[in-house]
Amino acid sequence: MNNYSIETNCIQAGYEPKNGEPRVLPIYQSTTFKYDSSEHVGKLFDLVEEGFFYTRLANPTVDSVEKKIAALEGGVGAMCTSSGQAASFIAILNICSAGDHLVSSAAIYGGTSNLLAVTMKKMGIEVTFIQPDSTEEEIQNAMKENTKLVFVETLANPALVVIDIERYAKVAHNNGIPLIIDNTFATPINCRPIEFGADIVVHSTSKYMDGHAVALGGVIVDSGNFDWSNGKFPGLSTPDESYHGMIYTEACGRSAYIVKARVQLMRDLGSAPTANSAFLLNLGLETLHLRMERHCSNALAVAKWLEANDKIAWVNYPGLESNKYYHLAKKYMPKGTCGVISFGVKGGRDTAVKFMDSLKLAAIVVHVADARTSVLHPASTTHRQLSDEQLIEAGVGPDLVRMSVGIENINDIISDIEQALAQI
Ligand SMILES: *Cc1c(COP(=O)(O)O)cnc(C)c1O
Repeated sequence: MNNYSIETNCIQAGYEPKNGEPRVLPIYQSTTFKYDSSEHVGKLFDLVEEGFFYTRLANPTVDSVEKKIAALEGGVGAMCTSSGQAASFIAILNICSAGDHLVSSAAIYGGTSNLLAVTMKKMGIEVTFIQPDSTEEEIQNAMKENTKLVFVETLANPALVVIDIERYAKVAHNNGIPLIIDNTFATPINCRPIEFGADIVVHSTSKYMDGHAVALGGVIVDSGNFDWSNGKFPGLSTPDESYHGMIYTEACGRSAYIVKARVQLMRDLGSAPTANSAFLLNLGLETLHLRMERHCSNALAVAKWLEANDKIAWVNYPGLESNKYYHLAKKYMPKGTCGVISFGVKGGRDTAVKFMDSLKLAAIVVHVADARTSVLHPASTTHRQLSDEQLIEAGVGPDLVRMSVGIENINDIISDIEQALAQI
């Protein structure tokens, strides 16, 4: 690991070509790799020698991107997955099985919420959701004998709640369990959760890391800091009969968690990214530091402009001094939060829809966190099955517009909003 700053690592980390090799990370479009002897391949399987044998487990293009992301987050290793959903699923399943329990902040991405509350429940893994602003005591009260982890989001999508990472890490560690954090919205440019005590970091790389809305992906980063041999995690500290009796904590030291995720779960579940997607992700990462800066300054300018406009009922952006999470955001994300804001248009549902349909530059899309400014009206799209009362209960009122502020010229973005507001 080098001592370069994060901006330099966005560009340089992970791939170091030798004399005469391609300057740019190549796409290794090959499922398989050739060796001269069976003995050599045996050593690869035993993990005594490093190398590639099958792209489901590892591929040189993907490997370089994993090394880059591990450097950006400050972890000992990373594993890319085919999507953010796959990353969260594998990160949890790596240390939980039927009969186990986990505690999660209620302010998380809807897909993750379903994964925990519905699909993992069917597998016998129970979840308790707690309010994101819970005190130490309230977090502690959710703990059970069989609780194996705590799950939170740095900056919740779409609620934009900022989590007190140190508080959650402290309670998790007091109970001998790790803190897993979804750092998708903040990205390692704005927050490096491992520095505040998080043990495992997951991302949907489909958002800012890719940044151009071209490739779905996810990643799991292992801090290497958690002690898995405390008796609570036999899957890591006793022999894995499915992998010739390997004891991960003994054979892999600080990388036990991330090695197990790969050789056991990626082997069995197969949610691997393609080399081509990894190449595109790498291109995105090369400019992540520049783009985040612009996303944040544009979003703050839009949020301030909206806050001063009398057709707007309210604005939610943790970068605003009026925001409930302003001070927490300043502590954990001093450089800025993200480009996503939400706000209410006076007049409710119909006015919000009229406003959005009148936008010309900002497009209506379901995705967030890419270079182009976009908007979504949850009440008539992602949450359309809910009544107005249910919408308010879910924290996404009928007047709520979610805007993902892009990196276009700020004057053009604001002019577009201004002309659309003039239509209502
Ligand atoms: C989008 C998203 C996910 C899911 O990622 P996919 O790549 O769409 O599977 C998980 N967490 C957060 C915070 C997200 O925004």
